[in-house]
Amino acid sequence: MISKKQYFHIMNLAKLKTKPKTKCKDCGKELSRRDAKRCRICYGKIQSQRLLKLWKDNNFRNTRIASMLNHFVSETTKEKLRNICIKMRKEGKFNIKPNKSEIILQILLNKLFNKKYKYAGDGKIWIGKKNPDFINKKEKKIIELFGKYWHTGNRINCYADTQKGRIQYFKKFNYKTIIVWEKELKNINKLIRKLLRFNQC
Ligand SMILES: [Zn+2]
Repeated sequence: MISKKQYFHIMNLAKLKTKPKTKCKDCGKELSRRDAKRCRICYGKIQSQRLLKLWKDNNFRNTRIASMLNHFVSETTKEKLRNICIKMRKEGKFNIKPNKSEIILQILLNKLFNKKYKYAGDGKIWIGKKNPDFINKKEKKIIELFGKYWHTGNRINCYADTQKGRIQYFKKFNYKTIIVWEKELKNINKLIRKLLRFNQC
């Protein structure tokens, strides 16, 4: 005698075995797993395309890199990863566009200083190992836009990512730097005064 459970198990197996073999949606290859939609190769292709698409997204990439850096990785590896990332950005591998806050600041800077400060946050200009957000090469001035997310708490990877650290970092290259915090965009008049003061000094 077989139990009810065993009986259903056998019935299910039989059902699965008699089910017609399915083919890969993409290449048409016959599949061994009857519940699969794609073969392993085509599935892999789709997954890597998905990851590549995600990787082009600023936030996704930064979050992934930051979490990798913050956890298991040694200092040497961190440095290596940072260098790879910088190299890729310099080669224009990522299509980085200014975010909303950067666009607002860019408009403000253009109006105040007649396009003296150029947006460089897309990886166009590098000072040492840092890519400044806005730069006035002629007068050697940099304006950095810091968001709370990347520049406070435990997401900071190195001292140069803090307000003081960044100012000191660019100072080594004879650049004067001001940090604009994203939250400061909410009080435009106060921010204008701060920017005017910086521009004069
Ligand atoms: Zn396939």
